[in-house]
Amino acid sequence: MEKSSGCIVCGKELTYLEIPKRAKCVYCSDVQDTSTLCVNGHFVCDRCHRLPAEDVIEKYCTTTTILDPIAIAQTLMKNPTVNMHGPEHHFLVPAALIAAYYNVKGNLDTKVQKIGQARQRAEMIKGGFCGFLGDCGAAVGTGIFLSLITGATPLSREEWKLSNLITAKSLEKIAMHGGPRCCKRNSFLAIRSAADFTRENLGIVMPITTPITCQFSALNKECLTKDCPFYLD
Ligand SMILES: [Zn+2]
Ligand SMILES: [Zn+2]
Repeated sequence: MEKSSGCIVCGKELTYLEIPKRAKCVYCSDVQDTSTLCVNGHFVCDRCHRLPAEDVIEKYCTTTTILDPIAIAQTLMKNPTVNMHGPEHHFLVPAALIAAYYNVKGNLDTKVQKIGQARQRAEMIKGGFCGFLGDCGAAVGTGIFLSLITGATPLSREEWKLSNLITAKSLEKIAMHGGPRCCKRNSFLAIRSAADFTRENLGIVMPITTPITCQFSALNKECLTKDCPFYLD
């Protein structure tokens, strides 16, 4: 995928219109006149074009109405501010899950507030956490998600159990694929595991209907290729 030119949502070429059109920004949902659209119709406003990764993640997750957390994550991963690997994935995972969860439940004010809290908590998970502390930040992100939606604290009982258990389950899935780290593989594994966990334990279904196929292997020099479940030949 070409990241330096073309549409930052899908990578396809941009078209320049002689007469501006009204279009909705993919990331912030603002409706504006634009002379630039991609061939798939995507529009990204100037303000969103200039945002750093964490702002793009927060903005998109608070405004999107998508129910599939993998689809939310994949759109964000294609944004050029989100690196192939990097600690922004520690926020991307809980943000995508919180967005999907509250989009399913229909509680949008709470969603905005919880995504802001997730961003603050995710800042505590530094880069390299996986290899240096034995706790992949994508897995910790699932714990942040469950802690926030259940209101867990260090003194809770059931919420505390579930928050630690969701991290354990996703971390095991991540660990069993071995290293080297891949923030894309681990984010996909964490989100899928968290969606299963949320359905089984809270009865809320975040439907994963997009196939989980990786579009980033060419950018990853340590890609496991055929040993990665998401590798596309
Ligand atoms: Zn596009
Ligand atoms: Zn925008």
